[in-house]
This record gives sequence, structure tokens and C-alpha cells, in this order.
Amino acid sequence: MGYEKFPKQVKEGRVAQTKRLLVSLIVPVYNEQDSIAPFTATIAKVMGTSCPEIDYEVLFINDGSSDATEPAVELAQAADPRVRLVNLSRNFGKDAALCAGLEHAHGDAAIPMDVDLQDPPELIPEMVEKWQGGAKVVNARRIDRSHDTWLKRLTANSFYKIFNLLAEQKIPMNVGDYRLLDRQVVDVLRQMGERARFNKALFSWVGFDAQEVTFERPNRRAGETTWTYWKLWNFALDGILSASTMPLRVWSYVGFLLSIASFIYAAFVFFYTVVFGADTPGYASTVILILMFGGLNLFAVGILGEYIGRIYAEVRGRPIYVVRSTSDFEDTAHNG
Ligand code: UDP
Ligand code: MG
Repeated sequence: MGYEKFPKQVKEGRVAQTKRLLVSLIVPVYNEQDSIAPFTATIAKVMGTSCPEIDYEVLFINDGSSDATEPAVELAQAADPRVRLVNLSRNFGKDAALCAGLEHAHGDAAIPMDVDLQDPPELIPEMVEKWQGGAKVVNARRIDRSHDTWLKRLTANSFYKIFNLLAEQKIPMNVGDYRLLDRQVVDVLRQMGERARFNKALFSWVGFDAQEVTFERPNRRAGETTWTYWKLWNFALDGILSASTMPLRVWSYVGFLLSIASFIYAAFVFFYTVVFGADTPGYASTVILILMFGGLNLFAVGILGEYIGRIYAEVRGRPIYVVRSTSDFEDTAHNG
């Protein structure tokens, strides 16, 4: 009686499988007032047509924007309850904002993505499919950087080369933050204690089966990139120094080789003097040696300083980000 009214799955005892999966799109935004509406519209279109069986939330992390980003998100939220907003108390940088996003996401999987549509939402269905096929991580790799300037391509390539040469945990070439992370991976990331959030490296440190989808990266839809070369350089330095202690250790070897060389030279000078007598010219070589050792010493001390500065930042243990307010949802997550 009434049995027939139940959906087919209940009769077949497959109730548990009908729980709809939730995917959290984590979108850090910094002064992006003009990009919010096109982004949510595109997402609604893609998810509605290609992934109707998956629920999703769009979690905007407002990284201390000084323009009308916050009202723009609130407007989107009024139209669509799947939009959520976390406001940070100031600009903490994209990696910190992403960290806040991972902390606040409710999904069974999370996908960090840029708001400027440079991470094409059309890839999401493909990523979700691989995820449902068992992958815990699905990387989105750029196969075409022809939109970038040659300088950007060269610096990006050298970065990946140097990073992978030095770091124990390699990172995949041309994979940015755009990727799908299963809840299990998100929970590991949330437990990682470091203040310096170099996400690319953290994401691959976690491990798990990773699969890949590829795409061509389009140009920015609206607004401008906030990345200058100076910022990129510091970003790369942070990444390499947080993933490797090689720059620190290499000085023991340099020092060792130089002391061997100096012993050999000392022996040479001794025998030369014994055989040919004293010989005073040597101004040039003295100056060169002083400059060389002085330079090397300063360089090595500088590297030490880079690490010590980072250790200092870590031991202070300040929160990675500070939440000013959240909008339209109950949440127990706390700062940092
Ligand atoms: N972003 C952020 N905080 C910042 C800088 C950028 O949250 O301090 C966001 C930005 O709004 C965008 C994403 O990070 O959604 C990527 O930024 P951008 O497009 O400037 O970087 P690019 O695509 O040039 O790497
Ligand atoms: Mg961009």
C-alpha cells in the first residue's frame, strides 16, 4: 500500500545513491565588479545544461575589494540562492582567499576558479565526470599559451623547470589553481598548517590519483590582471623556497669545493715560491678573490635571510586571512 508511490530507486534499495552531489566553485574576487554577473550567468548556463544531476554553490571570497564587488555579489545572490559570499577584512592575496574558500566550502568536491572566465566553466562537466569515475584530483592543464607575451611564457616555463628541479614534490606544468579537489583532499588541505599558501605545491603534495583535462586559456573577459612581474617574482620565490631547502644546502657544497680549491692554490704558491723565489705581483688576483668570496658570502647570507624571514612569518602563527562577514549562510568555520 502506497509502495508504488515511491520512486523507482527506493524500490530497488538504491536510496543512498540518489543523494545529490554538491560541488563548490571557489571564486576569489578582488575588484571585479564587472565580472560577477557574466560569471554567474555562464555558470548557471553550463551547469544547467551539462550537469543537471549535480548541485553546485558559487562561493565568492571577496578579497578586500575597494570597488562595488560586494554589492555585485549580493545582487547575484538575490537572484540565485546558490551564490554565497565571504568577505575578508582586507586584501590578503589570492592564495589566502582560496584557503578561506576551502575552509568555507560545503561541497563534496571543490573547484577553485578565476572570475574572469579565463578558467573556462565548460570544463566543469568533464572534470565532474572524471571525479565520479574515481579521480580525487582533476587538474586542468593549459595547452596553449599563445595569448601570453613571450616574456610571460619564458618566465612561466623557467619557473616550472626550476621548481621541479629543486622541489621533492613536482608540480604539473601549466596547471594553475583551476582543478577539481575531492572532499577528502580538501580536508587534508585544511589541516596543513603553513602560513605561506603556495597552493600549486600544496595541491600536489597531498598526492592521490590525479587525472587531467586540457584547455586553451582565453583572454580576460573584463577588468585587468593585478599581477605585475615583481609580484610574480615574489610569488615564484615563495613557492620555491617553501617547497625546497636546496638553496640552503647548496652552500655547504660550494664552500667545500672552494676550500679544496684554496688548498690546491696554496700548495701551488708554496712550491712556486720555493722553486722560483718570491714573486710579488698579485694585486689583480687578490682583488678578484676578495670580490668573489665577498659576493658569495653575501649571497649565501641573503639566502639564509630569505628562509629566516619565512620562518619568522610561520612562527608568529597569525591567521592566514580574517573574515569580516559572511552572507546568507550559517557557518561554523573560523579564521585561518
Ligand atoms: N584575486 C584575488 N586577490 C588578489 C588578486 C587577484 O582574489 O589579490 C583574484 C581575481 O579577482 C581573480 C583571480 O584572483 O578572480 C585571478 O586574478 P587575475 O585574473 O588578476 O590573475 P591572472 O589570471 O592574470 O593570473
Ligand atoms: Mg585572470
